[in-house]
Amino acid sequence: MARGPAKRTHAIVLDTTKLAERDLIVTLLARDGTLERAVAKGARKGGSRLGAACELYRTSDVLLAPGRNLSVMTDARLVEGVPMLPQDFEVLSAAAAIADCVKAASMEGEGEAIVYALVTRAFEILSRPLDLPHLQLIVSAFAFKLMAMLGWRVEIDVCVGCGSEDVRWFDCVSGGALCSDCAARVESAELFGAHRRDWVRALLLCPFAELAESPIAADDAAWLARLALAWTRAQLDVGLKSFAFFVGLGQVESPIAAFS
Ligand SMILES: [Zn+2]
Repeated sequence: MARGPAKRTHAIVLDTTKLAERDLIVTLLARDGTLERAVAKGARKGGSRLGAACELYRTSDVLLAPGRNLSVMTDARLVEGVPMLPQDFEVLSAAAAIADCVKAASMEGEGEAIVYALVTRAFEILSRPLDLPHLQLIVSAFAFKLMAMLGWRVEIDVCVGCGSEDVRWFDCVSGGALCSDCAARVESAELFGAHRRDWVRALLLCPFAELAESPIAADDAAWLARLALAWTRAQLDVGLKSFAFFVGLGQVESPIAAFS
């Protein structure tokens, strides 16, 4: 069976799984936006160049040869000049949330180059010092922008039920903003004031760099992160475990409060 030519591309490492004693299965986002899974033989051997190039969230120049089931990464080296993410728990959780969205939204072997550009820009901003509310802002913006690129743009200006411009409610499953009449028929609708609507608009329209510099209240950032997760889940119909974990950061209640 013909297996096609080898592929050389810049790629971002989104996920790794251990295989046998010294190998890894690496999930990559290639520069053309396709999701690739490849076996990196010997990548867990100490000090190997392949190992360094397969570290999570790094950008590498990889050579992928078609294999029987998965591609085989026959060569890889880190791309110079791409900032490394700080080895900080909250930052790495934010990166994992972004990787989670991309993996859930992409199909293996298919993709859009614009998704690669979006991930590159998001990771570039995550390499800067950011507090948790700003990490939440970047991840939320990433999720809403990615969904919009793939055809699931959130509607915030008119009621998705009747087209009225008097929107005061929001519901992910319905597709966005709702007027009071339409919201009355939707049990899961939540209040959506002008202030929060402006924030969702900013997430859709503003570059990451601008959002990273914008003052934001911690409760607004946490709310936006919850909304972005709910929106992405509703569109993709998947659990998004890493995204959910990230959204849970900083929202841990005391065990007593949780049961009272
Ligand atoms: Zn309506």
